[in-house]
Amino acid sequence: MKHYDHFTTDVLVVGAGLAGERAAIEAASRGLNVIILSLVPPRRSHSSAAQGGMQAALGNSAMGKGDNPDVHFADTVKGSDWGCDQDVARLFAENAPIAVRQMAYWGVPWNRVKAEKRIYDGKEIQEDPEKEGLITARNFGGTAKWRTCYTSDGTGHSLLYTMDSVVLKLGITVHDRTEVLSLIHDDKRCFGVVSRCLRTGQLRVYTARSTVIATGGYGRLYGASTNAVINEGSGMFVALETGKVPLGNMEAVQFHPTGIVPTWILITEGARGDGGYLLDKNHHRFMPDYEPKKKELASRDVVSRRIMQHIRKGYGVDSPHGPHVWLDIRHLGEKHINTNLREIANICRNFRGIDPVHDLIPVRPTQHYSMGGIRTDINGIAYGLEGLFALGEAACWDLHGFNRLGGNSLAETVVAGMVVGDKIASYTREADLQYSSSLIDDHVGFQEDRIQALIEARNGDENVYELRREMEETLSENVGIFRSEGPLKKAVSKLHELLERSYHVGLTSDGKGANPELASALRITGMIKLAYCIAAGALAREESRGSHYREDFPARDDDNWLKRTLAYWPEGAKEPVLEYEPVKITELPPGDRGYGEATRESAESNSSS
Ligand SMILES: Cc1cc2nc3c(=O)[nH]c(=O)nc-3n(C[C@H](O)[C@H](O)[C@H](O)COP(=O)(O)OP(=O)(O)OC[C@H]3O[C@@H](n4cnc5c(N)ncnc54)[C@H](O)[C@@H]3O)c2cc1C
Repeated sequence: MKHYDHFTTDVLVVGAGLAGERAAIEAASRGLNVIILSLVPPRRSHSSAAQGGMQAALGNSAMGKGDNPDVHFADTVKGSDWGCDQDVARLFAENAPIAVRQMAYWGVPWNRVKAEKRIYDGKEIQEDPEKEGLITARNFGGTAKWRTCYTSDGTGHSLLYTMDSVVLKLGITVHDRTEVLSLIHDDKRCFGVVSRCLRTGQLRVYTARSTVIATGGYGRLYGASTNAVINEGSGMFVALETGKVPLGNMEAVQFHPTGIVPTWILITEGARGDGGYLLDKNHHRFMPDYEPKKKELASRDVVSRRIMQHIRKGYGVDSPHGPHVWLDIRHLGEKHINTNLREIANICRNFRGIDPVHDLIPVRPTQHYSMGGIRTDINGIAYGLEGLFALGEAACWDLHGFNRLGGNSLAETVVAGMVVGDKIASYTREADLQYSSSLIDDHVGFQEDRIQALIEARNGDENVYELRREMEETLSENVGIFRSEGPLKKAVSKLHELLERSYHVGLTSDGKGANPELASALRITGMIKLAYCIAAGALAREESRGSHYREDFPARDDDNWLKRTLAYWPEGAKEPVLEYEPVKITELPPGDRGYGEATRESAESNSSS
C-alpha cells in the first residue's frame, strides 16, 4: 500500500481558466462537490491575457444592426473553412448572447453604446440613441457584423476576475500550484488524476466521478508564441498518453497576424478592428491590394499569410529579429488609444519602448491558438474514456475547424462552460466510482519511478532545455504558416529523434520539490508527442484549409479532405496513429469563404504593383 495524499470529489476540473471555472460553477451550483486544480493561482491563467473581446450576436451597435445567431453561425463556419462541426457552431451561436449577458449580470463592465457620431475608416457612424447604454461591440476579423463585445482591451482580465469571484462566492475548492501528470484509468473509464505539488514535489491522487480537462492551449511548443509560459499543452498529452483518447486536428495551428517584435506579446486584433492599418517598408497600406473587401480584417489565417507573402516579396522592414511589417494606429488618436487600447499601448511602452500614439508598431505573425485538442462530442465528452470531459482551448469540440475567428474563443470558454458544465452535472449525478486500490498504486508508482529515475540518472546525457529548443525550432521552421512536403518530412524525422532522446534526459539538479528542471523533464516527452501529432497531421493532409496552408497543395480539397484528423498514441508506440472522421455539415454546404482564397490569384498580380 503506497502513501500519498488522496482527495475524492464528485467533479474534478483540471484548469482554472475561463473554461474550467465556468464548468466548475455550473456543477457546483447544482449541488455537486467540485475541486479545481491549476498550475498557477486561477487569475494568472492565460484567459486573463485575452485582450480584444468576445463574440455574441447582440446587434446593439449601429454596425451590428441586423446581426443574429444565424449570421454568427455562418461567419464561424466560413471562418473554420468548413472544418468545424456545424451542430456545435449552431449551439454556440445561439448561446453566446446568453453567456455575454450572464457575465454582465455577474459583474463584467462591458463597454456600452454611446449615442454619438464617429468616423471609422473614412465613414461616419451614428449610433442609435435608443440603444444607448446597451452592450456594444467592435469590429473583428472574418465577421459580417460588428459583434465582438469588449471591456477596452482587457476583456480576458475582467472576465476571469469576475468568474473567479463567483468561484470564491460558491466556496469551490481550488488547489493551485498543482500539476497533473497523468490520468488514472483502466482503458475504459477515467477515475481521476495523479498530480504533483509544485511547491513540495509530493505526489497526490484525486479521484472523481467526472474528470474535466480545461488546461488551455499548447502555444509554447513553438518558440515564438503569444501564449503564457504555462501553455505547454500538458492536459492534451496526459489524455493522449492514455492510448485511448484521440486529439483532433492537431495540424490546425493559428498564427495571429500581429505579435510585437521581438517579444511576441500579442497586439490585439481590436487594434485593426478599431481602424488600424498594416504598412510595409514603404509605408504602403498593402492589405487592400490582396483583400479589397475585408482588408486588414479578413480572417486571421488569411491576413497572416498575406503578411508573410508580402515580406517574402521583399516588402518587409529589416530588423535584427528578422523582417516585419508595421501596424499603424496613430490616426485613432491619443484618447482612443489610451482608453480602448490602453493595454496594448502599455505593452508597446513597457516591452518595446515605443508610444503607439506617435510611433509605428513592429509586428509579425506569431503562433497564437490551438484549434486542435482533446476530441470530444457536442456534450464535451472525450472520445475513448468514460467519465472524461474536455472543454476550452484544450478541447477539439469542434467549433473552430481550421481557423478560429477572433473573439470566438473567449465566447467558447463561457458557452461550453455553461453547456458542457450542465452535461457534466447530469452525468455525475448518475455515475458511480469504483476502482481497485492497486490501480491507483500502479499509476502513482509509475510516476514515482519516473521521478526517481530522472533524479538518479543525473548523468543521463540529454539536456531538457536543449531538447526543448530543438523542438521549438523544428516546429517554427518547418510547420509554420507555409508548409510543404520536404520541410514537414524533416520535422517528422527530427521529432522522431527528439522523442527517443527525451527518454535519456539527465538533470543537473537533484531537488524533488520546486525544481523547474525536473518539472520540465517530466513534461518534455509529452510535449514532443504533441509536436509530432502536429507535424504528422500536417504532412498527411494534402490540401490547404484555413490555417493549414500547403504550398504543394494550395487548394481546399473537399472531395478527399472534408474530414477531421484524429491522432492516437497507442501504448509503447514510437509515432502517432492517424485516423479520420467526417465533419458534421448540418446547414451550410461547403462554399467560398468570401475573402482570401477567392482572390488569391488576383492578389498575386495586384501586389506586384
Ligand atoms: C494574448 C492572448 C490574447 C487573447 N485574446 C483573445 C480575445 O480577445 N478573444 C478571444 O476570444 N480569445 C482570445 N485569446 C484566446 C483565449 O484567451 C483562450 O483561448 C482562452 O482564454 C483559453 O481559456 P481556457 O480556460 O481554455 O485555458 P487557460 O485560460 O489557458 O487556462 C488553463 C488552465 O489550466 C491549468 N493547467 C494547465 N496545465 C495543467 C496541468 N498539467 N495541471 C493542472 N493545471 C493545469 C492552468 O494553470 C490554467 O489555470 C487570447 C489568447 C492569448 C494568448
